[in-house]
Amino acid sequence: MGGASRRLHIFFFPFMAPGHMIPMIDMAKLFTMRGCKSTLIATPYDKPTFLKSIEKFKDSGLNIDVVNVTLPLKEVGLPEDCDNLNRVTSMQMRQQFMRAIMMLDQQLELLIEKLAPDCLISDMFLPWTIEVAAKCGIPRLVFHGTSAFSIAGTECVRLYEPHKKVSSDSEPFVIPNFPGQITLSRMQLQDFVKEETEFTKFIDKVKESEKRSFGVVMNSFYELEPAYVDHYRTFLGRRSWLIGPLSLCNKEIEDKANRGKQISIDQLECLKWLDSRLTNSVIYICFGSMVNFTAAQLHEIAVGLEAAGQQFIWVVKKDADVEEGKEEWLPDGYESRIQNMGLIIRGWAPQVLILDHEAVGGFVTHCGWNSTLEAVTAGVPMVTWPVSAEQFYNEKFVTQVLKIGLDIGVKNWSRSIGDSVKSERVEEAVKRVLVGEEAEEMRRRAKALAEMARGAVEEGGSSWSDLGALLQVLRLQSSAPNEKI
Ligand code: UDP
Repeated sequence: MGGASRRLHIFFFPFMAPGHMIPMIDMAKLFTMRGCKSTLIATPYDKPTFLKSIEKFKDSGLNIDVVNVTLPLKEVGLPEDCDNLNRVTSMQMRQQFMRAIMMLDQQLELLIEKLAPDCLISDMFLPWTIEVAAKCGIPRLVFHGTSAFSIAGTECVRLYEPHKKVSSDSEPFVIPNFPGQITLSRMQLQDFVKEETEFTKFIDKVKESEKRSFGVVMNSFYELEPAYVDHYRTFLGRRSWLIGPLSLCNKEIEDKANRGKQISIDQLECLKWLDSRLTNSVIYICFGSMVNFTAAQLHEIAVGLEAAGQQFIWVVKKDADVEEGKEEWLPDGYESRIQNMGLIIRGWAPQVLILDHEAVGGFVTHCGWNSTLEAVTAGVPMVTWPVSAEQFYNEKFVTQVLKIGLDIGVKNWSRSIGDSVKSERVEEAVKRVLVGEEAEEMRRRAKALAEMARGAVEEGGSSWSDLGALLQVLRLQSSAPNEKI
């Protein structure tokens, strides 16, 4: 079969961490809705989660499925259930985990040979997949999972090293050759940028493989960050397609609730709680899938929320500190005092469902890109509390460029715990983002962006058209594989 109208078959290979898997699953759904056949690649442990997320799409006749790859965990010395980054608990385990992932090349090659996809879309953290795709004669696209702002921003810092020209860790510098006079300090940069580590070499490989890939797909939309998309495309010269917000492919309650892990609250109970609250009266607090706050930090948040006197939904990740009987972070008698005011979800929340509810008027977030974009899409202003990864860039984007958030004031990048924030700052930030003129102003801007986000994915919108253009070029490529398109 050839020609420009035939059905494309795309492989989607996410990195094994919730913040990377969730948007990739949404992307696979989106591609099937546009007429492609989508095959997602998952480890056996995560496969049920993938299947649950796509179940309804599959049952409605859309061409989407999941295939397995098995991580050689024993070979690298990891326990059997450690096939997702959020079950990795030390630096050493992280290195073993990355080694195991790099050993998946033959399994990927066999899958490509067997199922003959036209294209591979793989996560930025799987740079070696470009070699496999090249060997099998198909194009590989990179999925970054973040904004053009932070991809281009981190690249400018990597290239020009402004952090080496300041005299202290706290002295601000402007990101060179980057629109908008954006300031950062050395304390806010990732450790591997400040000193050469194994991960620095890995990131060099990621960048190298990005340059050699067919292009880049992003979970963003043009109107959100035009100057930065243009910068990325022209100054850094990368071919890219912006096809987000990907979470918008989930229209029904069930679709929104079934993203990522099994939710720890009944979705209807959660909606009932929200339905009984006034518009914009609830603050939602959640720090994504990876941040591990100490019991002392959780305690400060608890005290700050109670003192703020606002309605809240607070997601507390379930780990050692949150196990039953060990909740030393919870002030005495807390839950009975806050029962009419707050809802604590221990474990996993239906985040998009919550953010989309009109009762939610603010979001305290660690600025993971998915959470940030989900807040933009819902028109909800943010309190920014970045911890690791590229989250300080996302904070700058939200507070300095979009002006739909206020920062809680953390200064230091860290791998998972972050700066300690006192209850008074939590209290003040929660009040500021929910009530008053400043809050209204931010909300007005956020609502306008939310409108644009919805417009972008509608037929004829920028993301809708970008995806159409990408599919067209992939069809051409697959009908003339030896030509450079
Ligand atoms: N998420 C969720 N429920 C939770 C925590 C997180 O649905 O209780 C989802 C959230 O909607 C987002 C993703 O998990 O899509 C987290 O990605 P993000 O980039 O924000 O942060 P990460 O977890 O990668 O640090």
